[in-house]
Amino acid sequence: MSTWILEYDGFDAETEGLREALCTLGNGFLGTRGAAPEARADGIHYPATYAAGVYNRLPTTIAGQTLEDESIVNLPNWLPLTFRAEDGCWLEAAEFLEHRVELDLRRGVLTRFTRARDDAGRVTQVTQRRIVSMDDPHLAALETTVVPENWSGRLEVRSLLDGNVANSGVERYRTLAGDHLTAVETTTLDEDAVLLRALTKTSRILVAEAARTRVERDGAGVVVARTLVQEQGVIGHELAAEVAAEEPVTIEKVVAVFTSRDPALSEPGHAAGREIAGAPGFSELLERHVLNWHELWRRFGISLEEGEERTHRTVNLHVFHLLQTLSRHTAAIDVGVPARGLHGEAYRGHVFWDELFVFPFVSLRLPRLARSLLRYRYRRLREARRAAQAAGFAGAMFPWQSGSDGREETQQRHLNPRSGRWSPDNSSLQRHINAAIAYNVWQYYQVTGDDGFLGGYGAELIIEIARFWSSIASYNRAIDRHEIRGVMGPDEYHDAYPGASTAGLDNNAYTNVMAVWVFCRALDVLELLPSDRSDELRQRLSLTAEEVERWEDLSRKMRLVFHEDGILSQFEGYEQLEEFDWGGYRSRYGDISRLDRILESEGDTPNRYKVSKQADVLMLFYLFSAEELGEIFERLGYDFDEETIPKAIDYYLDRTSHGSTLSRIVHAWVLARSDRSRSWDFYLEALESDVSDSQGGTTAEGIHLGAMVGTLDLLQRCYTGLEIREEVLRLNPQLPTGLRRLAFTVLYRGQLVELDFEGENVTVASQTSKGAPISVGIRGTVTELQAGGRLELSASAPPAS
Ligand code: BGC
Repeated sequence: MSTWILEYDGFDAETEGLREALCTLGNGFLGTRGAAPEARADGIHYPATYAAGVYNRLPTTIAGQTLEDESIVNLPNWLPLTFRAEDGCWLEAAEFLEHRVELDLRRGVLTRFTRARDDAGRVTQVTQRRIVSMDDPHLAALETTVVPENWSGRLEVRSLLDGNVANSGVERYRTLAGDHLTAVETTTLDEDAVLLRALTKTSRILVAEAARTRVERDGAGVVVARTLVQEQGVIGHELAAEVAAEEPVTIEKVVAVFTSRDPALSEPGHAAGREIAGAPGFSELLERHVLNWHELWRRFGISLEEGEERTHRTVNLHVFHLLQTLSRHTAAIDVGVPARGLHGEAYRGHVFWDELFVFPFVSLRLPRLARSLLRYRYRRLREARRAAQAAGFAGAMFPWQSGSDGREETQQRHLNPRSGRWSPDNSSLQRHINAAIAYNVWQYYQVTGDDGFLGGYGAELIIEIARFWSSIASYNRAIDRHEIRGVMGPDEYHDAYPGASTAGLDNNAYTNVMAVWVFCRALDVLELLPSDRSDELRQRLSLTAEEVERWEDLSRKMRLVFHEDGILSQFEGYEQLEEFDWGGYRSRYGDISRLDRILESEGDTPNRYKVSKQADVLMLFYLFSAEELGEIFERLGYDFDEETIPKAIDYYLDRTSHGSTLSRIVHAWVLARSDRSRSWDFYLEALESDVSDSQGGTTAEGIHLGAMVGTLDLLQRCYTGLEIREEVLRLNPQLPTGLRRLAFTVLYRGQLVELDFEGENVTVASQTSKGAPISVGIRGTVTELQAGGRLELSASAPPAS
């Protein structure tokens, strides 16, 4: 098996949706699912194209209630290309004698090979190569080579842009309005090029696609008879050329896509027309595209030495889909981290806390991308302040699900496909999203030392979030502690106390500890900034000395609840919940990862039981070292016994169904030091989440970006002990038993540093010729690494340079 190729042999209707999601091509601006160009949305295939940040809001009335949902928009389909032999059936109706799809991860090329027999027995080979350019984010191209096997005559090709599309990729959303486009206009450009424009209905974003189709034989243009096809919402050409048996002809379709959200343009249609007029042919586009991928792999690639090539291939697949969702082109536009990539419509393209799992890998390679993604949050401070105010709080309250303008986009009701019932969705009570944003800002600052960002944006975000936590916390005089009531933790199975009429839980440990951590960072930030900047900020935000004092107090007196045996309780009252019959449900249902749906369909609720969808308390051991947690506990005046960590891990692990792909990432992480082989098992399961669709059909609706990048960060930081603290790049490798060697490159404080781990030994080599030295620490010893220098370190012996 090649570690660079994802291959599917034969056609399988069952898994076509999954394949299309995994074969999506993108460049951080645009994403196009890997559907065959001749396919239509028909319940098996779902060709779709999305542009990052292009959302639209539509109302739907369900059971007398009008709900509004904002969704990423399925844009006009640029793929349609089909052919037939004169008077025969079109490719989509022919019989496939052979069919193979191959995704080349290294070069970002999707190749499809099919041998098709038409209704008159004429057999034709078709090889199609497709790219979504990583060089020029506005260009995509499809090259189709047709070889008649047993016939000669007239070949007819149809190449279109199709504006008659809607959002229908997710079955459970199909009752919701999905017609996001209006005002579809079509025009011809040059003789061989056409233009389609459409407007999103309520966000009024203008989208333009231009397509140029040409035919070549032996590298030279072929004169074809060309007919314009222009129907409602559709434009393109039908081309006819004489072909001879066994003589290949190539059809080249190049497409330009612009939207009115793009910088530096007057009108998207004009931009697309200009772009297509000057666009080179497929081979030149391919060459530049591959060059860009080559550079990306140098920066983002991970080398593994391990028994299974499949592991390495899946790691490559995850890097590939990360870079297709978020790239340097993303940094030029105003977008966040979409939880499901640009690969499908699940969660409507929204931005959640999943970025927590994505930033550490991005910040250490392409910090300007991380900075731009953090600015997506900064630009939505206004809306977050409004939300806090409307809920009676101070500061900024960011939404659990975010889209275009930063309003709360969490659906108000969700459909349980198992029972067919709509229920209230309280997941927006996950206020911990705010802590994730502050955490990401701080981590970015630790990695980059970007004072400009901290002073300009980061500090304000942290302060406004601290203010929110301060105002949501209430003081309980009886115990002299502050409490946070009425929220949800990351475990979405619990949204209320059993039988309660209002939603929300009290003193969720993860939320409370994160709030304390935010107060500490807000206090740090005020100290860290130069006094002029810090004074300016205090003034501009009308920050008073009393507020800052209150943070200090809150950071020392926040309440945490413990079980009788000392285990940190997921929330107040968790211990009183019933134990769940795991064995019984497993034998009855098999896959019980979505216990919430199973229980709801039985008229029951997970709220009654000690069950978790995903890591909640354990998130704390994921984000913080034992040392850091110990400091927080000490500050709070609670005992912290490191011995309770494995006890807590076992306790919660036994009660978790892993209904989110993020769960296995966290469990692999928290077990990495105490149970290396179990950690690796979780790691391998997390790796399979998308490639094997282990969540049972969800990947077809979009990849799980948080989990994908989580698997990369486990390699990067967890198994290597890589940590940036006090201006030192610290390492503490303990590779899992299944992994012999691991190597990758990080960009730290301006130096590209190659790290090569083998057992307990590490080679640290600077690839940068100029720049200030950096400090590298291993097991308590810190050594300087000069630009261009190299260190051989060992976790078991003192360093030698
Ligand atoms: C998880 C959340 C996650 C969301 C988007 C949900 O299933 O429970 O933690 O943010 O998916 O990936």
